[in-house]
Amino acid sequence: MADEVIHVFWEEGMLRHDAGRGVFDSGLDPGFLDVLEAHPENAGRVKNMVSILKRGPIAPFLSWHQGRRALISELLSFHTQEYIDELVEADRSGGKDFGGGTFLNPGSWDSALLAAGTTLSAMKHILDGNGKVSYALVRPPGHHAQPTRADGYCFLNNAGLAVELALSSGVSKVAVIDIDVHYGNGTAEGFYRSNRVLTISLHMNHGSWGPSHPQDGTVGELGEGEGYGYNLNIPLPNGSGNRGYAHAVTELVVPAIERFDPEMMVLVVGQDSSAFDANGRQCLTMEGYRRIGQIVGEMAEKHSAGRVLIVQEGGYHLTYSAYCLHATLEGVLGFPAPLLSDPLGCYPEDEAFTVAVVQSINKFHRESVVPFLK
Ligand SMILES: [Zn+2]
Repeated sequence: MADEVIHVFWEEGMLRHDAGRGVFDSGLDPGFLDVLEAHPENAGRVKNMVSILKRGPIAPFLSWHQGRRALISELLSFHTQEYIDELVEADRSGGKDFGGGTFLNPGSWDSALLAAGTTLSAMKHILDGNGKVSYALVRPPGHHAQPTRADGYCFLNNAGLAVELALSSGVSKVAVIDIDVHYGNGTAEGFYRSNRVLTISLHMNHGSWGPSHPQDGTVGELGEGEGYGYNLNIPLPNGSGNRGYAHAVTELVVPAIERFDPEMMVLVVGQDSSAFDANGRQCLTMEGYRRIGQIVGEMAEKHSAGRVLIVQEGGYHLTYSAYCLHATLEGVLGFPAPLLSDPLGCYPEDEAFTVAVVQSINKFHRESVVPFLK
């Protein structure tokens, strides 16, 4: 994709969402601590993503576009009216704690509408033939938001809404590849009964985390009805690292995409799979993100005429997340050598552990009941 630029969609109003301070993401402290930290999903992390893309070496290969608010009517392609009413009422009444660190505060709803609308604009840009690769730089994130509920810092499923837009615009099949460290349960749930959307999620094996997140992310969640076999969960051992991820993508994701042959690809990115993220245990470095981006770019060239929408999700290390994002976009563009060196990720991977990770992925492959891997 060396001739291609990435079209970045962004709107600074999304910075107004403020999930507060606390013991990490809890919003709470019984009074034991003098210094509380900002909620991990804070404006600073995204400010750094904006600035590294504007001032880093990838800057000449990016084209910036203004985002927008979604209309309420646009949200109903993925979410129920009752749930949207609940969000509107939560905003009108001054805010709501949805549990699990998911706080809708004054300003949050407007940011959520901007994130959803900006992602829709990024997808429409591709659908209209104005570019092949778009990146929706958005917050609050979306991939945990299910049709009927908020979850995991997410209110509206930005990627899911974009997929619905593609489907209603004549695209017959969309593949979603989610590399955020957490299971993209909301997106999976939204398309669980569809054979037009192959949802693939590589994630930490964290399981269900409560009533807002009943899905467990295991290999047995395969979809239902017409959608049976069209949800591919790839839970990975903690510490899987660059080689473990590259192996999983090459051995499991690539063959599934080969068989599905999508007309549109959506890469859902979270830098919380990085070695330095407080929310994840997967130990990717810039090199690993770059490699994943490269493979996705190659798959898009082969199957979807180079068309890929990239959607921002988690990634909570204030500085390293931005560097990992830069590396991912470098990979998608297919540069032959890194544009930016890694300021942090210098630890060698443990050889014996990497071998064990690869063996466990191979075992998953052999024992998988996922139709796309047969
Ligand atoms: Zn995440």
